[in-house]
Amino acid sequence: MAQSSIEWTEMTWNPTTGCTKISAGCKFCYAEIMTCRLKAMGQEKYKHGFKVVKTHPETLSIPYTWKSPKVVFVNSMSDLFHKDVPVDFIKDVFKVMNDNPQHVFQVLTKRAERLFELHKELKWTHNIWMGVSVENDKVVDRINFLRKTKAKVKFLSLEPLIGALPNLNLKKIDWVIVGGESGHRPRPMNPDWVLDIQEQCEKADVAFFFKQWGGRNKKAAGRLLNGRTYDEMPEIMEIEKGAR
Ligand code: SF4
Repeated sequence: MAQSSIEWTEMTWNPTTGCTKISAGCKFCYAEIMTCRLKAMGQEKYKHGFKVVKTHPETLSIPYTWKSPKVVFVNSMSDLFHKDVPVDFIKDVFKVMNDNPQHVFQVLTKRAERLFELHKELKWTHNIWMGVSVENDKVVDRINFLRKTKAKVKFLSLEPLIGALPNLNLKKIDWVIVGGESGHRPRPMNPDWVLDIQEQCEKADVAFFFKQWGGRNKKAAGRLLNGRTYDEMPEIMEIEKGAR
């Protein structure tokens, strides 16, 4: 596990590594860049490089050792629903999450179709937040697959937002995260797209989290929208915070 600088989580847990690109949002994949770095540094876990999907059964025991409740981004370096991750291993990862209800596990995929195919075989405890990434209107069907799953908490990561999403169907969606692309050659995010999504969330009473504007200097660009930050989380998180 590792502490995370991602604004909407606390730490990362990576039971699988490696992935392959599937849509425009993958263009400057963070996991690919990090995997190359970690491989060059000689890290055993990343020695196969990015394009080879590997499972790491030795990581499955880690969440049992955390002493206090955590909010955990599962697979920041991969996609749990990639076709090369065996179903049995996905079930093993779910068992760990089911066994540890004190932690919140945030699982994010671009393979929404496989998620939908498998969802009935998985046990969806309340602490598993299932999300799909949607970067433009070409991939909005991912949201429909997510909506039809048995996940108790469902969220959208609209990052890197590279196109307008004017007609989001937010039915059964609990949380929306928006963020712009960063790095050397980021694709621009039009502020009107962000404002429109924030308004859609407000109308639908869906928690809205604005992560960042992105750009070449993402720190300077900051994360203010309408002169304020938006750090809303699903209601279940608010309830659990109180119980901690
Ligand atoms: S699905 Fe995610 S991890 Fe896989 S290539 Fe795309 S951005 Fe990277």
